[in-house]
Amino acid sequence: MATDQALQLLSSLQAQAAPMFETLKELVELESPSSDKQALDRFSARLAELWRAVGAEVEVLRQEKAGDHLLVRVAGAGGEKPLLLLGHMDTVWDVGEIKRRPVRVEGDKAYGPGIYDMKGGHVQALYAVQALKALGRGPRRPLTILCNSDEEVGSRTSRPPIEAEARKSAAVLVLEPANADGSLKTWRKGTGAYRVRAIGRAAHAGADPEKGISAIHELAHQVLALQALNRPDTGTTVNVGMIQGGTRSNVIPAEAVASVDVRVMNMAEGEGLDAAFRALAPRLPGASLEVTGGLNRPPMERSAGNVALYEKARALALELGLEIGEGGTGGGSDGNFTAAIGLPTLDGLGAYGDGGHAVTEHVVLSALPRRAALLARLLETL
Ligand SMILES: [Zn+2]
Repeated sequence: MATDQALQLLSSLQAQAAPMFETLKELVELESPSSDKQALDRFSARLAELWRAVGAEVEVLRQEKAGDHLLVRVAGAGGEKPLLLLGHMDTVWDVGEIKRRPVRVEGDKAYGPGIYDMKGGHVQALYAVQALKALGRGPRRPLTILCNSDEEVGSRTSRPPIEAEARKSAAVLVLEPANADGSLKTWRKGTGAYRVRAIGRAAHAGADPEKGISAIHELAHQVLALQALNRPDTGTTVNVGMIQGGTRSNVIPAEAVASVDVRVMNMAEGEGLDAAFRALAPRLPGASLEVTGGLNRPPMERSAGNVALYEKARALALELGLEIGEGGTGGGSDGNFTAAIGLPTLDGLGAYGDGGHAVTEHVVLSALPRRAALLARLLETL
């Protein structure tokens, strides 16, 4: 019976709670910031070893400057299209953070840099596969687990292999952390970055003010226009997060620059927003504008395929005594890429906890075996 199979998995994973935490602690202590190839390669070498130990084949995708990526393959019961799992190995924490903030446990919470985003997800995937094997079971489809090293900096070198593997796969599960309320993610906003540069003409602010054109004055008009592109009703957000300009208070500024973050729920909004950026026009006579940038992650829209995956996960979670909601987030992940090429994608299958990218980052320890069991059930049924 399905419920017996679920509970058998759960108890075998619960029996593994201590080694699971030890593996997690080890992986957190192996720091892996996006910018440090040496550290990343150390981390991926260890992760590859752990996957080989559970019978997986590991291919290393060598990178010149970025950290190497891993393509992990686990055999399935059938010869069908594989299931693709995505997990990034990089974190936003520089080497040395672990000395300042060693892994510590307080009650049911374990704290540490990168523990929730997203080393917990790697550990859950490893133990999910191991538990299935230990019970003489296994994934239904072959698994491809792509572990990349540059997600936190835009997945520049890993996007091509992610998209290539996605095109060969049946569906995608992303091992990013769950939302803070435990819900899984069926949507994520698309993200973009723009730079708006105003160009005026410098002049002595006292002697020849009429000869100058203030780039800051021009940019101020543009900042108001940009902020007015916010659409709380549709979820589109535009944030002028940084401005720079001018040289001295007594010089009419010749240049000013705004850096802008944008988020959109769907592609149509993204295209409309992009057109609005391209249509920005200078307001002061003689001033000019340069607009660069665009969307860097397409939106992961809440597609029927994503929702169907969530519904399956919800039903499997209930057998494990876990009520799991559906949610989304304004932050992007590599799931954005796979969803945008039409693959059913379910995100948030990693750790349960909170505080990603912050010093409050933690996972809930008692949730690790249960979330690993949910993942294992998805692997053997999807
Ligand atoms: Zn992440």
